[in-house]
Amino acid sequence: MSTMATRQGNRDDPGQGLALALCDFELAARLHEALVGDERQPPGDAIAALLREALCSAEACFVWAEQLAEVGGVWAELFSAARTRGRLAHCRATPGNRHPDHLALPVLCGEQLLALVGVGGAAGGYDRVAVRRFAGLAVLLAGLLQTRARQKQGLAALAVSADKLRLNARILERSNDAVLVTDADEQILACNHAFSRITGYAEQDLVGKSPAILFKEDGEAQLRLLICEQIACGGEWHGELQFTRKNGEQFPAWTAIGAVAGTSDRRDQRFFVFSDISERKQAERQIHRLAHYDALTALPNRGLFNSLLEQALSAALRKRTHGALLYVDLNRFKHINESFGHAQADSVLTEVARRLAAVLRDEDVVARLGGDEFVIALPDISRREHAGHVAKKVLASLAQPFFLEEHEILLSASIGISIFPDDGRDAGTLLQNADVAMARAKKRGSSAHLFYSQEMNQRSFEHLKLEGGLRRAIERDELYLVYQPQLDLNSGRITGAEALLRWQHPERGLISPAQFIPVAEETGLIIPIGEWVINAACGQIREWIDKRLPGVRVAVNLSARQFSASLPRKVVGLIARHAIPSSFLELEITESMLVHSADSVVSMMRDFGEAGILMTLDDFGTGYSSLSYLKRFPIDTLKIDQSFVRGIPGDKDDSSIARTIISMAKNLGLSVIAEGVENAAQMQFLRGAGCEEIQGYYFSRPLAAESFAELLLQTNGCAPASA
Ligand code: C2E
Ligand code: MG
Ligand code: MG
Repeated sequence: MSTMATRQGNRDDPGQGLALALCDFELAARLHEALVGDERQPPGDAIAALLREALCSAEACFVWAEQLAEVGGVWAELFSAARTRGRLAHCRATPGNRHPDHLALPVLCGEQLLALVGVGGAAGGYDRVAVRRFAGLAVLLAGLLQTRARQKQGLAALAVSADKLRLNARILERSNDAVLVTDADEQILACNHAFSRITGYAEQDLVGKSPAILFKEDGEAQLRLLICEQIACGGEWHGELQFTRKNGEQFPAWTAIGAVAGTSDRRDQRFFVFSDISERKQAERQIHRLAHYDALTALPNRGLFNSLLEQALSAALRKRTHGALLYVDLNRFKHINESFGHAQADSVLTEVARRLAAVLRDEDVVARLGGDEFVIALPDISRREHAGHVAKKVLASLAQPFFLEEHEILLSASIGISIFPDDGRDAGTLLQNADVAMARAKKRGSSAHLFYSQEMNQRSFEHLKLEGGLRRAIERDELYLVYQPQLDLNSGRITGAEALLRWQHPERGLISPAQFIPVAEETGLIIPIGEWVINAACGQIREWIDKRLPGVRVAVNLSARQFSASLPRKVVGLIARHAIPSSFLELEITESMLVHSADSVVSMMRDFGEAGILMTLDDFGTGYSSLSYLKRFPIDTLKIDQSFVRGIPGDKDDSSIARTIISMAKNLGLSVIAEGVENAAQMQFLRGAGCEEIQGYYFSRPLAAESFAELLLQTNGCAPASA
């Protein structure tokens, strides 16, 4: 190579040296191109040619380490020496040696031999400079070969990972699970085919949007919270979520949400992988239905009923309340099966189930045990007798005719009742006892119900007798009113009377209202009876006015069941019929009436107030009255309950309650009266505390109308007093 010759020939010229150095760069560039730039293995000849040129040699040789055995001639010996020593082998031309100068070097990468290079036959041999240059070239070659090897490795790895990427993409695309990828800002980047199939969204519908589109409002907030929490901890979230399809339909999906950390050229990503589990859930529901519900009537079956009953039992034990179990068995159902066939009989059973559910409250449970046997659990009853009312309602609803192929069919049933916890503390015992009671009821004939306990049967029987008697009491003229005077403590005059109902039973004698009023309330008989009371009180007021007795107010007790929007009109009508001043009639209501359906009660009480009728809150202190109630309802008087009066003045609590009620009434501008005053000490305490009026045995027991009139004349004198 001419440049090499020039360089060697002018080695002291610095300018020339630079030019030569640039040529070395050119040489390096050509070597780089041959070794690194081309993917194919460069032929040894091409490298040898470059070396030959670079060192102005007649010959040059390049051989890969693995092809060393193929080398012959002078190179074989020389390369073997260079390889063994691991450094330069220089064979000089001597007079006895016919060969010219030769150089050989191993090309090493660390310990590893990559190739061997050699040059020979330069004119004038190889001096130190030439040897160094040759060594430099060998180092350059080693570096380039190493780069080439690394590049080959990198490309191979890249090819593998590209294959892997392609494979992953194919797996995702073919997967039956939906996959959605978002960036860290929750913008959708991609989704797979299964995702589009399941949700109905195509990838282009979603890219750039938030996954919030896939969730209903509340679910979304919940989801974001979950993602943030879990991903912040570097974890993955698995669970069930409700997704929304493009058509708005919701479906449950088993979901995994996770994150993939970003790299230098890719940001963090999040992925959602989920599968639609609506079919599985549907199947689970179906299995649940089959396991727990009766296939014909869709009512709970025996197993579910037992567990619901156990729950109700433990709640009743905890809350110390009562519940009841009703065992309902249809009478002579076999005949329907035999006459009409199973399909028709089944339709009757379905109708029975519907009727049972219709007469019960939401919290009650009805189940079919099998065949024509049903059970009902009443989880919470305030009085045990109520179970008897429910049994009667059930029997009445089953007594309505059933229609089968245009035939009218009459059914009856027998019901056995067990009360919990009285008749048993576990489901098994209660069912067994209700069954025993049902068998007894069955012997009594059609449409009967019986309690398991004889005591309850007795009570229910009494109840029934009272009810039957009460129905006839008005027409048989067995009811009457007595009047208990109310005394004004300041003037010592009678200002009013409380009308109290009495029932003179033809066989049982006088029955207390405490006994029959609850029956009248439960059966609804309180409505005609209550009307009778108001009418009788108004009639009595009229009579006393006619007899020119001192005028007094008469207070009548009202029951909650009497409340209806039409009540004020009825009362005003009675006042008008008897032509009495409305201020002579007073109505007593209890706190519990204010708590229920308060709005309708307020408007009713306003109607009374507008009609000039006074209102008293009876048994005050025993209910749930709060000051806000007192402000809300138009009340004129508070009546301190006798349970507080009983303890005064000895009992500190009773005394301070009474005192508080009195001062509260005064602050609210209400009158106050104490009932149940039985002795002088109670009266004196009340007077001292500022109570205006009293009512009680101390002054007078409730009196018949004539006796009351006499006492009134004695106490107030003949002059008519205004009420
Ligand atoms: P109530 O309205 O709180 O009536 C006061 C009760 O206390 C009356 O009992 C009365 O006789 C009794 N009593 C009066 N002074 C004393 C006393 O000094 N000591 C004791 N221990 N008792 C006294 P009664 O007449 O047996 O009435 C009981 C409850 O029956 C009444 O309580 C009222 O809630 C209800 N009631 C009475 N008549 C009627 C009515 O016509 N309609 C309605 N819905 N309920 C009525
Ligand atoms: Mg009262
Ligand atoms: Mg009272």
